[in-house]
Amino acid sequence: MKIIKSSSALLMAVVLSLSAKAQATEFIYKPASPTEIAVNLQRVEGGHLERFKKAYEIQRLSENVYWVSLSDYNVTVLVGKESVLLIDAPYGVGKRLIQAIKSITDKPLSAIVYSHAHADHIGDSSVILKELENKDINIYATEEVRNSLISHKVNMPAPVTKIVLDELYFEGHNLEVFSNFNGHTPDNTAFLIKDGKHKILHAIDLVHPGSLEFRSFANVEDAIAYKNDIDTLMRMDWDVMVTGHSNLGYKEDVKFVQTYVADVQNFIHQGFPLADFSTHLKGDTPFAWYQGYSNQIIDFAHKQLAKKYRKGREKEFDIVAESHVRVMFWAMFARAL
Ligand SMILES: [Zn+2]
Repeated sequence: MKIIKSSSALLMAVVLSLSAKAQATEFIYKPASPTEIAVNLQRVEGGHLERFKKAYEIQRLSENVYWVSLSDYNVTVLVGKESVLLIDAPYGVGKRLIQAIKSITDKPLSAIVYSHAHADHIGDSSVILKELENKDINIYATEEVRNSLISHKVNMPAPVTKIVLDELYFEGHNLEVFSNFNGHTPDNTAFLIKDGKHKILHAIDLVHPGSLEFRSFANVEDAIAYKNDIDTLMRMDWDVMVTGHSNLGYKEDVKFVQTYVADVQNFIHQGFPLADFSTHLKGDTPFAWYQGYSNQIIDFAHKQLAKKYRKGREKEFDIVAESHVRVMFWAMFARAL
């Protein structure tokens, strides 16, 4: 009996260690290469500060598609038969972006595509147009992005000249357009490029590969819609993702965010029955009890989240995690979720 017990304990230990290994993703860290196509799970090596000091980094993703990173802002470059298409043109890096494209190909830039109406990701399109003295560069976006730029009076990016619908055909390449991302902004648009056997997705401000998400899940406009966006990313068929910031992204990164968001929601759910708003009914303004009640739940969920995610990334966690719980709490509270 004793032998059976110890052997089953040993078997359990082996199973546990195997499952722990299966969960740990082994990323491959290499310097960015403009010539060698990245393999699955490849990341660009170098710490945040080290990479920030470079004028730009270029990583080839397929025969014709390149990831270009400038001061922690990422864009996609597609080289067509005659000319170049660029997705996004972040603020402050336009001149360096022109140099980066010139180092890839001699072909001229003929198209800039906007992912969403945030000027930090598209603001230097006007600088690029001015530098290249080329009024023939088409500016593509969905009608939703164009309307957001106009209604929000975002004047820095060059005006949209062509509206994209479900597909964008560019010199032998067909970009699939996905307008169903609504969490970061209602107009957020993803683009899928199939080039040979490679499926590259350009999806911005949803996932920060290799780290926790930026504050309030990158300033989501709607945290519940953001959760749906993450589920959508998980369901879609792609191999590598160009994200707005950080490193090359993979399904493993999306899975991490999906689990993290589910944990945030679960810990908030666990906190709701522990808080009684009547104990917080005090002060001259109703905001006082709202604050006491919400903080009790948020503090509880934040502490639970820390037990699972803080170890090994303490600084990062202490900067952003509370904001994740807070933004999700109010999105759930408003909908009685
Ligand atoms: Zn944004």
